[in-house]
Amino acid sequence: MDRASGKADSTLLRVEGLKTYFFQRSGVLKAVDGVSFTVKAGEVVGLVGESGSGKSMTCLSLMRLVPRPAARIVEGEVWFDDRNLLELDESEMREYRGRRMAMIMQDPQTSLNPVFMIGDQVAEPVKLHLKERGRQAIERVLETLYAVRIPSPETRLKQYPHQFSGGMRQRVVAAMGLSTSPELLIADEPTTSLDVTIQAQFLSLIRELQREHRTSVIWVTHDLGIVAQMCDRVNVMYAGRIVESSAVRRIYKDPQHPYTQALLDSVPVIGNRRPRLYQIDGQPPDLRSIPSGCPFWPRCPSAMDICKEQYPPQTATGGDDFVHCWLAEQ
Ligand code: SF4
Repeated sequence: MDRASGKADSTLLRVEGLKTYFFQRSGVLKAVDGVSFTVKAGEVVGLVGESGSGKSMTCLSLMRLVPRPAARIVEGEVWFDDRNLLELDESEMREYRGRRMAMIMQDPQTSLNPVFMIGDQVAEPVKLHLKERGRQAIERVLETLYAVRIPSPETRLKQYPHQFSGGMRQRVVAAMGLSTSPELLIADEPTTSLDVTIQAQFLSLIRELQREHRTSVIWVTHDLGIVAQMCDRVNVMYAGRIVESSAVRRIYKDPQHPYTQALLDSVPVIGNRRPRLYQIDGQPPDLRSIPSGCPFWPRCPSAMDICKEQYPPQTATGGDDFVHCWLAEQ
């Protein structure tokens, strides 16, 4: 349900042909190379792939936070409601970034400033974007810390990051992102630094808050177990492109792309006594010299001659699902 219009299935974010390149002495690195996807109101969309597949750079591009001058968004459109964010000037963009769309980074150590109290850090986006001050800002900070299950928030807001455990620090980072009630939350591998039990608590907390507030979420991860738990839809990325997009309930039963199949085979299964864990042969390509044709062909057990020559077109696989693989064309 769209919070604003009350319409089901309305699209909140539409990304079209996004390209973000790094211009280096050694060549042009195509970190994001023509990414298109949508996020509906209240939907959780996963971006999945190995390190270097372009997931994080896609998210930074949506927020227009790419590391300049080395990186530049060279092409594409990012429609949030009815505005193309890539056409906004910086002051207009600030109305969206932090207020209507927020980001939780993967490492709370680098997201939190060690010399400021937690309350001041959570209050910063509240003051900046909601223009709330004094008692009103403190009330909102307390409310948000309470929502992310920080015990005794009245005491905790006067403490510093080093007085919190890793899991609690990540909750504080989540509180900073959620404090302005954004319509879109971008979570970039926020559980990477957490141990498994704390991770499970954090995931269920975010899912609960997401359902309660009908927040749209882009969840970046390399872990298909987390996707199953968190997401409604998953976009699988390889070499800066989305190679398969599927409803989560379908992708585990019927993956269409050999890379998606390989990622699923790499997930350890309790009780499955294989002598060795499956691993995908080879390495992700150097994004300065991506192989011609399908970039996965050097690692693909099903590669054919055409795969080395032409990039596979998009093939619809039912509903909104699609894949880029020559196998689907046969
Ligand atoms: Fe493998 Fe060819 Fe499909 Fe690429 S297009 S994933 S190389 S079968």
